Order: sequence, then structure tokens, then C-alpha cells
Amino acid sequence: MKMSCRNIFKSYQDSLDSVGRDVLRDISFTLDSGNSLSISGPSGAGKSTLLNIISGLDDADTGDIYFDNLCFSSLTNSEKTKFRLQNISLVFQSFNLLKDFNVLENIMLPLIYKGLSKKDSKEYAISALDSVDLSNFKLSSVNTLSGGEAQRVGIARALATNAKIILADEPTGNLDKDTSNLIINNLVDICRENKISLIIVSHDDTVLSKLNTNRKIIDGKFI
Ligand code: ADP
Repeated sequence: MKMSCRNIFKSYQDSLDSVGRDVLRDISFTLDSGNSLSISGPSGAGKSTLLNIISGLDDADTGDIYFDNLCFSSLTNSEKTKFRLQNISLVFQSFNLLKDFNVLENIMLPLIYKGLSKKDSKEYAISALDSVDLSNFKLSSVNTLSGGEAQRVGIARALATNAKIILADEPTGNLDKDTSNLIINNLVDICRENKISLIIVSHDDTVLSKLNTNRKIIDGKFI
């Protein structure tokens, strides 16, 4: 799915009596279907805020987000939630895995929630686990996983949901160089083949070299 950000501005109020602090200043870009974009920049530059706005978890002050011809930013919150569930997959640094379920179940649950049958959910989940080289961990409890393994389960879950857009915040932060290479190659290939647009917040050179476009944010502006 094609997406574009048009003239996004965002400021946060530090305290009730102070003026707003500009966090994003005139961010615009277009990402074609199946293409990938990295966003890097120092801590506090506005990267997570931008991902939150693109996914509808936060609102811009002005500016619009489009997915194909749909003006996403003008939807109501419940319409945004519905669209996000169907089309956007988020890979967080904190993985957000459910401790009471095993690896396979963690990947299947969002699919079942989306309305897929148990059989199809299992099939997609197994294939996604394969793509992050974790097939042998299907029945493992998520409590026993290392940070890097948990991160790969988070990526497999994003791939299995059949999203049109994947937004990932430092997805290789816990991985060694070889594993990072493998995962990013698979992620980029799968996204290209399935026309999934991919945005990754990362400082990792291995990641940056694999994506179509690299952008940097400094003080809320693309440079
Ligand atoms: P990055 O992801 O690049 O490290 P963030 O997008 O998390 O940066 O934050 C950008 C700036 O916005 C920071 O100065 C941060 O303190 C501020 N900020 C983020 N979220 C909020 C919020 N909910 N309220 C006030 N300030 C915020």
C-alpha cells in the first residue's frame, strides 16, 4: 500500500503555562507500495512520535497521512483502530509478547482475532516463524526466550498478520550482526514480494544499507 505524510507538524506542551515545544516540523514523504524507508536521528529527535502519528496512536497538530487515496488522519479514532487492525503491523522494541502463551500461540492470536480460522492462523504463523529462523521454538514458552529471540517472534508476528504497512522501532536492537542480516534480508524480501510498505526506525548500518531510502530527523525536521 502506498503511503504519504504531508506537512506533519506536532508540538507538545511542557507544562500548562508554557508554550508548545515543536517535536515534528513539516515532515513530508511518500513511500510506494513494497518500498522501504529507514528513519534515523538522535534520541529525542521525534522518530517515535512520527511512527505513532503514522499508525494513528497519536494525532498530528496539522498535516495529513494518506494510505493510497484514503485520508487516514481525518478518520475518527474508532475508524483508525479498525484500519490499523486490518492494515498496519507494529514491531515495538518491547516486543509485547503475551507471557501465558507459547511462541506459536503469540503469533496465531492476532490472526484469530482478525477472523482467520485456527487452521489458517497456524499455517501463517509457522511460515512466519520459518522466515525468522525460529521453527524449533514453536512450543517454547515466551518466558524462556532471549531478548533477540523475543525480538524475532515480534517480527514474525508482524509478518504473519498480512499487513500492508509494517512500522518497526529498532527491530534489530537486540540481535547480533549475522542474525540482524538474516532477519532484515527476509523482512525486506517478504515486504517487496507482498507489496508491503516498510518503515524502520534504526541506527544500524546493516539495516540502512538494505532499505530503499534512508532519512534522518534532527530536531523534528528531515534533513
Ligand atoms: P525519539 O523517538 O526520536 O527518541 P520521541 O519522538 O520519543 O523521540 O520524542 C521527541 C520529543 O518529544 C522528546 O523531546 C520527548 O521528550 C517529547 N515527547 C514525546 N512524547 C511526549 C508526550 N507525550 N508529552 C510531552 N513530550 C513528549
